Amino acid sequence: SKLLEVKDLHLKIEDAEILKGMEFSLEKGEVFALIGPNGCGKSTLAYTLMGINNYHPQKGEMIYKGEKINELAINERAKKGITLAWQEPARYQGVTVREFLSLGLKSQREEVTEEKLKEALNKVAINPAQYLNRFVDKSLSGGERKRIELASLILMHPELIILDEPDSGVDIVALNNIAEMINYFKDSGSGILLITHSEEMLEYADRAALVCEGEIIRQGNPADISEYFKSFCFPCAKEEDCET
Ligand code: ADP
Ligand code: MG
Ligand code: MG
Repeated sequence: SKLLEVKDLHLKIEDAEILKGMEFSLEKGEVFALIGPNGCGKSTLAYTLMGINNYHPQKGEMIYKGEKINELAINERAKKGITLAWQEPARYQGVTVREFLSLGLKSQREEVTEEKLKEALNKVAINPAQYLNRFVDKSLSGGERKRIELASLILMHPELIILDEPDSGVDIVALNNIAEMINYFKDSGSGILLITHSEEMLEYADRAALVCEGEIIRQGNPADISEYFKSFCFPCAKEEDCET
């Protein structure tokens, strides 16, 4: 059965229509990629699925494991196993890596042990001895924060993972970690919504869709979507408007 179904999802911010009838579904253990240019509504979709304040759809349904989640608060969605890895990894002034990772475990009502924290950090190639007492702030590079955020995802055992441009602003090491992480979550049966604007990321997807101005304009296998994306005339003009 489906892990997530998105049906005719519409979202307006002030008077601007950002999502215009998004429609797709995702199975357990599947990586579904959404690719599209900057500003087409990818992050807005991620926030809407997670239930961030003010991202409440005017129309359409989000169905997770058979249950409509439109009215659930962000923490209720998190408890049910939905997580979002932000495009910009968060900075937390005065919060150590240890405290940040512990929150992930506590959110799942799991006991915090040094063992679990170390294991998660090792999976993302971060040396626990060097990093557990560092602060999750601007003293860490973007790549390091991204990796620590991925470690916190591991500890939450999410069932639906929304990765918003996981490749943005990261180093090669982190990029390899992202690929490994995707496989790790896939193998553990989670579904992954992989949001990106670079076709290189489609290599990790089972299925893909092209997003254009708040709508999915084509779905299919990642190789075909990648070709179509490369040849597409952005910003989303009609084909007859493109100069060839
Ligand atoms: P993407 O993630 O694909 O780059 P976004 O979802 O961030 O795109 O943005 C989609 C569109 O919505 C853009 O035109 C952006 O300017 C607009 N937008 C996003 N957030 C807001 C907001 N809070 N208020 C007004 N417009 C917004
Ligand atoms: Mg963007
Ligand atoms: Mg974005």
